[in-house]
Amino acid sequence: RAKQKGGNSVKLYATKMNEQVMYRVELERYLRKALEKQECFLVYQPLLDLMTGKIIGSEALLRWKHPKIGFVSPLEFIPIAEEIGFIHELGRWVLTEACMQTKKWHDLGFDSLMISVNVSATQFQHPTFFEDVQQALKQSQLPAHCLHLELTESSMLRNMYYSIHVMKKLQQLGVQVSIDDFGTGYSSLSYLKNLPINTLKIDRSFIYQLHQDRSDIAIVKSIITMGHGLRLKVVAEGVETAEQMKLLKRLKCHYAQGYAIFKPLSAEQFEQQVLQGNVVIQ
Ligand code: C2E
Ligand code: MG
Ligand code: MG
Ligand code: MG
Repeated sequence: RAKQKGGNSVKLYATKMNEQVMYRVELERYLRKALEKQECFLVYQPLLDLMTGKIIGSEALLRWKHPKIGFVSPLEFIPIAEEIGFIHELGRWVLTEACMQTKKWHDLGFDSLMISVNVSATQFQHPTFFEDVQQALKQSQLPAHCLHLELTESSMLRNMYYSIHVMKKLQQLGVQVSIDDFGTGYSSLSYLKNLPINTLKIDRSFIYQLHQDRSDIAIVKSIITMGHGLRLKVVAEGVETAEQMKLLKRLKCHYAQGYAIFKPLSAEQFEQQVLQGNVVIQ
């Protein structure tokens, strides 16, 4: 009996494995078609200037909704897109779409709005990446200084010299470079000195318990102080409470982003709630 039971569980395990493989294969197949089937769209999470209390722009966040499986998180499909080489096409689409949308808002009169776009490691290392950025700016007519690119520590470290070269070229164009999820990678302070960056985005894992965790306060305080010293802007992401926001303001953090301010919004919601709302725009 025991043997039979064991046999069944092995079989069950095998079935489950098989299901997972099938799901993954299906996901890859669906993902390759996601753009042409127009299943992708961007949402925009506003960025607040803590000193002035004004919204300065937003971060574009990619969404994919498949008719059969529903929403898939970017945390799940971005790594797959990287593996199957689809990230370049997807990344180009995100860049162009984000720049075009922001330019539309400029044309409505909000011409100082910035847009922050996430760039995956593989996308960043691709030989055409710099041209992709140029092309998106040209096509949209968005001023380069309004575009921020969010890179992670790991994507810069993958190929340091080449990364620095590309980042410098981007900055010469006027584009701003941010380190996303700062503090979660292999942050060596010596390379911070050499990297051409404009902004540090403190990872939300340091923010979500900020008001009740002494270590988090110490870490966040240090990052902000270091940012000021290096003449970098500092953004706190994942700000969920008014308390956290007050504390960040007191610590002289420049910008904040999170559910306490705004959740990610559709383009229409952004227009209604931010541009036409009572919100003060910088
Ligand atoms: P991220 O760039 O660090 O983006 C912040 C994530 O935190 C977003 O999740 C956002 O919805 C979420 N968030 C914002 N405020 C709060 C808050 O107050 N509390 C909590 N708990 N969460 C908050 P999302 O949209 O699921 O994106 C996850 C990650 O996927 C992003 O992390 C980014 O690394 C990646 N991603 C999203 N869009 C793109 C894209 O267009 N290209 C690339 N390469 N990666 C993307
Ligand atoms: Mg980001
Ligand atoms: Mg982040
Ligand atoms: Mg993060």
